[in-house]
Amino acid sequence: MSVRTQDVRVHLLKPICMNPPRTATESPRLLYRRRVFCIIALMRQSKLFTKTRKEAPKDEVSKNASLLIRAGFIHKEMAGVYSYLPLGWRVIQKLKKVIGEEMEKLGSQEILMSTLQNKEIWEKTNRWDDVEVDVWFKSVFKNGSEVGFGWSHEEPIGEMMKSHISSYQNLPVQVHQFQNKLRNEVRAKSGIIRGREFIMKDMYCFAMTEEDNLDFYKKTTKAYLEIFRRVGLGDITYVTSASGGVFTDKFSHEFQTICDAGEDTIYITDEIKKEAVNEEMTDKKSEGQKAVEVGNIFNFGTKKSEELGLFITDKDGEKKPVFLSSYGIGVTRLMGTVVEVLSDEKGIVWPKTIAPFQVHLLSLSEKAKDFADEIYTTLISHGIEVLYDDRDVRAGEKFADADLIGIPMRVVIGEKTLASKMLEVKDRARGETREIIVEHLIKELMG
Ligand code: ATP
Ligand code: MG
Repeated sequence: MSVRTQDVRVHLLKPICMNPPRTATESPRLLYRRRVFCIIALMRQSKLFTKTRKEAPKDEVSKNASLLIRAGFIHKEMAGVYSYLPLGWRVIQKLKKVIGEEMEKLGSQEILMSTLQNKEIWEKTNRWDDVEVDVWFKSVFKNGSEVGFGWSHEEPIGEMMKSHISSYQNLPVQVHQFQNKLRNEVRAKSGIIRGREFIMKDMYCFAMTEEDNLDFYKKTTKAYLEIFRRVGLGDITYVTSASGGVFTDKFSHEFQTICDAGEDTIYITDEIKKEAVNEEMTDKKSEGQKAVEVGNIFNFGTKKSEELGLFITDKDGEKKPVFLSSYGIGVTRLMGTVVEVLSDEKGIVWPKTIAPFQVHLLSLSEKAKDFADEIYTTLISHGIEVLYDDRDVRAGEKFADADLIGIPMRVVIGEKTLASKMLEVKDRARGETREIIVEHLIKELMG
């Protein structure tokens, strides 16, 4: 098998190729070769700088961070603070894609707010106070004035909207962002499930009427359930009624995923509709289950807008406060929860939608190397995401690493494959093995 220029969908390759053409006169064939070459370099495991390790760091007690560190997805900086390495960052990008798509379907527009926050804005709602909000990180500018590091963005975003919305005709409007939040958490023993720095998707809806606000709240509830279904947690994630705290209308809704590592206890009230109540809201009739809060949505009514001074004029020219609701998903917490729930004794088991690669290709012998190279080039030329284990290590080590890293499909090329041309394919989640020709594999992966 060989790869011909006409087989290659250059447009598919463009987004993952970082090298621009060297000269304007470079021929398409050369350009293609350079593109394939840079992709090969990017996805060969021999070039991946991260290494797997047998043991997690001694001070890491959580299962999610232990597995993610061992498999080379994240690096621990200190308790509750983690960096994301190439494999881990690919998972985050996939999660952002799934979540972003659902937010855009709701009509939300993506933005990015600053991390440094204005004290005066938070004082308007009494949330600068460390007693009211006990997770603030704060610092002082050289001129002596105080500054906050964003743990949430309702206040700054509400303030910012004052410059953009003034009439009922501007509403409703929704905005969202993927942003690093900083929180001075007391407990930071749950790996990336509870970080002191973590990535959150936060969305905010500004509406003219209570009806529009509630309508959006309901639509977002559905969109959230769709997100959790798409990332493999649909069966075990419940819309959970919870207290809204002092800042909101009486209640909020949490999205709780059943998980032993969870810090919350929920009581399922309707299995079909996926509804539950949080411990604080029940007199504990049924049996509670441990769960992780992967998302939380709040209806602030008009309270916050009144405090911030976010008013618009309605049809009759009257000044009215805007209805505000806010919608959070812990992106890194979601990644940690997937690892907690779906891993097995050998390692991580990624759902297809958020796996760092679609295929883990293992070349098992020197003799089969050329054939494995060809399969690799063919797969990537079809836009399939492949991590190619071309390392010069024992087969046992490659198998163990593949199980630990947890890519959904493992394709093995050994000497046996050379004779039969049948690829051995193993499903990471089910453990089933089958044989398939490359054309069928491509069809399956692109279908
Ligand atoms: P928790 O009750 O777990 O402390 P919270 O109710 O304070 O969380 P929200 O302000 O509702 O959290 O934040 C929105 C989402 O961000 C949460 O539902 C959760 O998924 C995620 N999140 C909150 N705190 C953290 C954290 N320290 N680390 C990782 N994710 C977090
Ligand atoms: Mg919450």
